Amino acid sequence: MDRDLDLEKKIRTVGQEIYSAVSGIPPVFDTKRWIGRIMEWSMKNEDFKTRLFRFIDVLPSLKTDDVVVRLLHEYFSGETEVPKIISGGIGMIARKGIAPIVAGRVIRKSVESLARQFIIGNDADDLSRSLDTLSKDGTEFSIDLLGEVVVSDKEARAYAERYLALLDILHKRFPDGAQPDVSIKVSSFYSQLDPVDWEGSITRTKEGLRPLLRKARDLGISVTFDMEQYYYKGLIIAIFKSIFEEEEFRELPFSGIALQAYLKDASNDIPELIGWARDRRRKISVRLVKGAYWDYEVVVNRQKGWPVPVFLNKEETDLSFERLTRLLLENRDIVHPAIASHNLRSISHAIALADALNISKQAFEFQMLYGMAEPLRTALRDRGFRMRVYTPLGELIPGMSYLVRRLLENTSNESFLRRSFSQGTSFEDLMQAPHVQKADSREETPNEHFRNEPLLDFSITLNRKHMADAIEAIKNKVNEKYPLCIGDREVRTGQELSSLNPARPREVVGSVSSGTKKEADAAIEEALKASKQWRNTSPDKRAAHLFKAAEEMRKRRVELAALEVMEVGKTWKDADGDVCEAIDYLEYYGREMIRLGNLKILGDYPGEENEYRYQPKGIGVVIAPWNFPLAIATGMTSAAIVSGNCVIFKPSGLSPITGYKLFEIFKSIGLAPGVLQFLPGPGSEIGEYLVSHPDIDLITFTGSKEVGLRIVQLAGETAKDQRNVKKVIAEMGGKNAILVDETADLDEAVKGILESAFGYQGQKCSACSRVIVIDDIFSELCQRLKEAIESIRSGAPEGAGIFLGPVIDGLAQKKIAEYIEIGKQEGKVLLERKVSGEGYFIGPVVFIDAKPGSRIATEEIFGPVLTIIRAKDNDEAIRMANESLYALTGGLFSRSPANIQKVKEEFLVGNLYINRKITGALVGRQPFGGFGMSGVGSKAGGPDYLLQFMNPICSSENTLRRGFAPLRKVN
Ligand code: NAD
Repeated sequence: MDRDLDLEKKIRTVGQEIYSAVSGIPPVFDTKRWIGRIMEWSMKNEDFKTRLFRFIDVLPSLKTDDVVVRLLHEYFSGETEVPKIISGGIGMIARKGIAPIVAGRVIRKSVESLARQFIIGNDADDLSRSLDTLSKDGTEFSIDLLGEVVVSDKEARAYAERYLALLDILHKRFPDGAQPDVSIKVSSFYSQLDPVDWEGSITRTKEGLRPLLRKARDLGISVTFDMEQYYYKGLIIAIFKSIFEEEEFRELPFSGIALQAYLKDASNDIPELIGWARDRRRKISVRLVKGAYWDYEVVVNRQKGWPVPVFLNKEETDLSFERLTRLLLENRDIVHPAIASHNLRSISHAIALADALNISKQAFEFQMLYGMAEPLRTALRDRGFRMRVYTPLGELIPGMSYLVRRLLENTSNESFLRRSFSQGTSFEDLMQAPHVQKADSREETPNEHFRNEPLLDFSITLNRKHMADAIEAIKNKVNEKYPLCIGDREVRTGQELSSLNPARPREVVGSVSSGTKKEADAAIEEALKASKQWRNTSPDKRAAHLFKAAEEMRKRRVELAALEVMEVGKTWKDADGDVCEAIDYLEYYGREMIRLGNLKILGDYPGEENEYRYQPKGIGVVIAPWNFPLAIATGMTSAAIVSGNCVIFKPSGLSPITGYKLFEIFKSIGLAPGVLQFLPGPGSEIGEYLVSHPDIDLITFTGSKEVGLRIVQLAGETAKDQRNVKKVIAEMGGKNAILVDETADLDEAVKGILESAFGYQGQKCSACSRVIVIDDIFSELCQRLKEAIESIRSGAPEGAGIFLGPVIDGLAQKKIAEYIEIGKQEGKVLLERKVSGEGYFIGPVVFIDAKPGSRIATEEIFGPVLTIIRAKDNDEAIRMANESLYALTGGLFSRSPANIQKVKEEFLVGNLYINRKITGALVGRQPFGGFGMSGVGSKAGGPDYLLQFMNPICSSENTLRRGFAPLRKVN
């Protein structure tokens, strides 16, 4: 206790000393300068801040001055209040008719000068000049080459090359003396880095890193691995350890890694790393930072439904920082501590503690970001502390996301710099010891409302192991045979449908009995028998069955996902996503039925009571596709069941085993016989027979346009004594387009298009098969996309790192090959990657210069084939996009508020996605479905879906008897 008090006293003394020595204000907080004034505005007005940062973000990528001026207007004219310096500027451009070329230049120059506060520039001269200034007082530095996103191997190689050149420059400038350091972004050394492919990512990233480390070792330059988003943390640490265990790097170069104190598990990672260094007797440096991705981690992990890995409370982070500082200082024999902070309290704590532990000033260092806190840096340097400045070098475009991150950090409410330099917070307050009163109350609480099932986090070792084991288990099963199920009977017909692994068609995943008309008749009879009791079961009880099924699916999720990998060729992540979506449907439709099951009283009039309720339609048939073999089948089936219908479920002949598993789950939770029956068989026979049967009231179909239209036609023919006009819900195909305008973030666009067009080999109804690009950026986008596609890994998807697997069967492969030939007649090949393997592998292929009305630009291909079309402006792009009979999904990459609005209004699609991929709709969040030739019916996973499965009934009772009316019920 006394020791704590002593330390606290010492911290204050040190703090006071530095505080008094700090003089001047960093430019971004200096309101005498225009930069300071604009930043002051941002801190006061959130809306302005968002607009400003977004404008800064888009600016460097704009190709013409016209667009710069247009966007200045779009962002700053209108509702929000803007500072004079900007509104005056806009006014001047309008009034004086200043040519865009002049205005554009002025705007660019202004933002450039803002960027120069934090980025030293982009060439060797800039570097030398800045480093000379810094090193005058003995300040050391770590150079970071800006370049945030690498989407292809070629870009990764270019990034590595730039580092090699940087090492040469540093060596020439600083042959000895100050110890130069470079900071590297590990994920930029391998474009496909992903923890799901743990071993592959380690191996390939190390290949990219070795030349750099060799040169650094030879030139005596140290290297620090920067830390990135939490998802990559474990992998980055693993790469760090793995490469420095290699013989040639065991001793040198001197190496370090950044660790983030805002992470809850930093308190495990650091001791673990220290232990590793000790075991190997290898001194490393640890740069302790608070962490630069706080907002990102909170938003993204909440979106995914994963635990938020960062402390939600700033004080907890500060406390964690102090604890970890102690840990590093106490282990200084094996760790060189680099305390990276601009926080006077954290810095004073480190100094006081080092003093208490008798640690010399040379045994540790402070680090600060270039341009962030010069007055503080000078004050510390003057007191003889070692100081290193983290110095970003680069051009504006790759530097923008860095710049915006820094601006965000500076202007956030909790920024220490803001508090000290802008808000004039008192010394006492700045020096408060971080104090955590109680466990963080802002943690998520379990939610009664529907929440999407979180995807498996494959950065967790155990999850990867479970998945690999489950795949192995399926491989070891030999052709298991499954029956069809009529009433409570398991039936084997003697005819079988074999399900083959599309990656190795010789491998039979399993076989199911194939039904005939006889079994179809028997199933309809059983359904009719079960119908009365099931329709009279209360909505709550019916919903409870769905919740139980969801629970069961959750328990079996890895087994089910592994089955999809083997049966339909999904990658690990896609297969897991499909299982989660299936669980979502069960949870969502269960809740929806409870909501709709509540009796509604309509109107509020004395003497009458109007009740509104829903009744099931009767007997339904569900005809499902293979491409989301569990999710779509579960969605359609569970919606029909929960709304009180009895259902005959016909899975696709290409995914019958997954279909059986769905049936098995419902059976295992005690669903009464006849409510759900499993009847696989050939679509054209048994499917058509069921659809045409007069006892069928409801048909729920998802599949191709051809089959969907045939079903609509068949269902429209009514038999003489048929009770109902059949209700058809048919979700069909798409020819989905992504528009990319001249303001798009191309890093994001390339990633989004890649995922949308080639994820699951383009076999998603929502997949992108047309990209419509504005002329100005056509070549750049094509080039980057081409390189990105060349970098993706293909093969049997049981391998965790595979992006592109096989298509579903030989027929699909042949049909796609035919379209590729057509494409060669209609357009030019931008890229044709030959993918080999014994399975049904094909493509990917990208065409350009095809006419918008050509076959490859209008027909659904359902494979990894993409057509890129050039448009002269946004109006033409929207017109081209709408030239399709389909209207399912569509996308836009743009940072122009006006164009985003226009596309929202004019692009005719059921699901529109802006600045993200166009696949992966989530139940309850992005209800899914289109119109035109993409389907009839309302959106799956949305609030209107169940209504289609029921007939609304209104009963109206006259409650007035002998002049007396009871009190009215109201909802
Ligand atoms: P498909 O039309 O070939 O088959 C779908 C189902 O219909 C299968 O169960 C099949 O056995 C059955 N079937 C086939 N012929 C039939 C007939 N004459 N009568 C009754 N049933 C018959 O489609 P698919 O290849 O399984 O799936 C791919 C297609 O599905 C693509 O066109 C895709 O766009 C579409 N799809 C649409 C959505 C959506 O939500 N809009 C979702 C997934 C897939």
